[in-house]
Amino acid sequence: MKDERTEQDKANRVIVFDTTLRDGEQSPGASMNLAEKLEVAHALKDLGVDVIEAGFPIASPGDFEAVQEVARQVEGPIICGLARCNPKDIATAWDALKEAEHKRIHVFLATSAIHRKHKLRMAEGEIVRHAVEAIQKAKEYCDDVEFSPEDASRTELDFLAEVVERSIDAGATTINIPDTVGYALPDQYAEIIKHLKKTVRGIDNVVLSVHCHNDLGLAVGNSLAALAVGARQVECTINGIGERAGNCSLEEVVMALRTRGDSFSLSTGIQTERLYPTSRLVSNATGLIVQRNKAIVGQNAFSHEAGIHQHGMLMHQSTYEIMLPETVGFCSSQLVLGKHSGRHAFQARIAELGYHLDETQLKMVFDDFKVLADKKKEVYDADIEALITGHNQDAPALWTIASFHTSAGTGTLPTAAVCLKHLDGSEIQEAACGDGPIDALFKAIERSTGVSLLLQDYQVRSVTIGEDAQGEASVEADYAGKRLRGRAVSTDIVEASANAFLRIVNQVLLSARDQVTQAPSDRPEPVH
Ligand SMILES: [Zn+2]
Repeated sequence: MKDERTEQDKANRVIVFDTTLRDGEQSPGASMNLAEKLEVAHALKDLGVDVIEAGFPIASPGDFEAVQEVARQVEGPIICGLARCNPKDIATAWDALKEAEHKRIHVFLATSAIHRKHKLRMAEGEIVRHAVEAIQKAKEYCDDVEFSPEDASRTELDFLAEVVERSIDAGATTINIPDTVGYALPDQYAEIIKHLKKTVRGIDNVVLSVHCHNDLGLAVGNSLAALAVGARQVECTINGIGERAGNCSLEEVVMALRTRGDSFSLSTGIQTERLYPTSRLVSNATGLIVQRNKAIVGQNAFSHEAGIHQHGMLMHQSTYEIMLPETVGFCSSQLVLGKHSGRHAFQARIAELGYHLDETQLKMVFDDFKVLADKKKEVYDADIEALITGHNQDAPALWTIASFHTSAGTGTLPTAAVCLKHLDGSEIQEAACGDGPIDALFKAIERSTGVSLLLQDYQVRSVTIGEDAQGEASVEADYAGKRLRGRAVSTDIVEASANAFLRIVNQVLLSARDQVTQAPSDRPEPVH
């Protein structure tokens, strides 16, 4: 019974062949230096890939050195080097690989009519002879030899079967069936695998591998279709990087097998919790940014903004998530707060941030949040905290800014005009000049309110990232010997500065009012 199960497990184990350092690095703009390649190679080992295709040694001294260093340093996975079907390529690949604990030479030759005619100018017989000789040559160096009939998915089925059979006879231990130009459809690709398994002698003694490109967005779909009918190695890259539209993405194919174990009952050796960190590492090393809506590792992959989704998520995670973010190394689901977000999610986030607001405060902050969410694409935790703390420091604002205007520029006197609205509904307008637009604005507020402050400090900083980030202004000023502070946030830093200044003015007026609460009007005479 136990032997039977292990046999079954073995039969259902998919070999993950990562070619981020070879095919991945062929993405335009993705070249990595030696240190970056080594860092990625070590991360791939920690991730649990079975084979690391470290490069194409004959291609350049840099590639040779990278394969050699990976072979020397990274133990555990098989280290693989690519070679064309000629003795020089194969010998060079061996030279680079020979110090590896486990090594593989991967030889390839195109087989499709298009490549035979236009690129290789070779007849079918010649193709077979070249492939056989190259495999035999590679076997002279090491036992683990992989052969790829390039553009296999557009090769006539009978000829493909012949090449594969002869390659197995020549000693190849892995046969890879590349959809080199991303032309295949899942059913058709699965048919190729099924045909080879049915017709090729010795096919059960080798590992059948798939290598799919994403030109039609089908690389993962095609790979899964082939694995479902018996392929047992999948060639892929982190973040799906690679030639043109890229390769099959490792994180997607692995998580599809895991999440849909009910359909595939296939396993890999991948530590899925390391997927997101490895994705980040490769993105940083290559400089290729991962799109936000990329499956598994995109920033939005576990982010929910729509109110209905957020409500569902708060009720039960499985309402809108088919895998736990933690299983791929994300810290947790992100309920992105934005203009579509509902009160539930907002309240939950405030609690998560550790704030306790009563009904009135919650309503005020939620209203502000909605106003802000209309202005900003995304509202970050820091934005919400700024809204809450903004409210916390506020006693009822005697004066608020109804509108303001500043103008400045070289050769012109910076001026500002402001219209303030009082709690009692009345308005006052004033204008002033200053050293700059902010200074002019402060002066206009002082003129309107009759409160003169001694400015001690003025700072601005961005609260969050992005071009629509909120900016926070903080002002410190003295009045009657007391140091007072005001802070305000807005996507418009001039507006935030004016509000921060006005907060201090309001504090002055309120405390003056409290002192003379007997006095009917709370509009004190201008004092300096
Ligand atoms: Zn490729």
